[in-house]
Amino acid sequence: MERTLSIIKPDAVERNFVGQIISRFEAQGLRPVAMRMMHLSQKEAEGFYAVHSERPFFKDLVSFMTRSPVVVMVLEGEGAVARNREIMGATNPENAAEGTIRKDFAKNIEENSVHGSDSPENAAIEIAYFFRSTEIC
Ligand code: UDP
Repeated sequence: MERTLSIIKPDAVERNFVGQIISRFEAQGLRPVAMRMMHLSQKEAEGFYAVHSERPFFKDLVSFMTRSPVVVMVLEGEGAVARNREIMGATNPENAAEGTIRKDFAKNIEENSVHGSDSPENAAIEIAYFFRSTEIC
């Protein structure tokens, strides 16, 4: 069993896709074991994406991630990190495979509906960024 951090981003929450996105995780072997809706502050978004702070898209990304609420979740399952990335699809929806969340819901490379940790090491860091261990069921 492995855990990963998932975020349903503002563009998806705004368009009422929360339920459909969670259904896809559940149907494909990932179980939510912690969940919270929250409106990220600028500091929280900048801290979460600190690794991208030198990238040209950083400012716009922080502005997007703070413009309306997100849903943060811990997903658990066998190979959860890789499985989540498969279910999500490529960063740019134009390159995302058929049947992935980003192919079906993402607006563009920035407003791409979901975040998922990219390694088990980062998953542990990202889960701890949002959840205390007592909040994970
Ligand atoms: N992003 C962007 N422009 C780019 C690349 C990425 O706005 O050219 C945003 C997008 O929302 C993406 C996030 O930055 O999901 C993090 O980028 P990363 O390369 O880590 O992609 P991910 O792991 O989310 O697929």
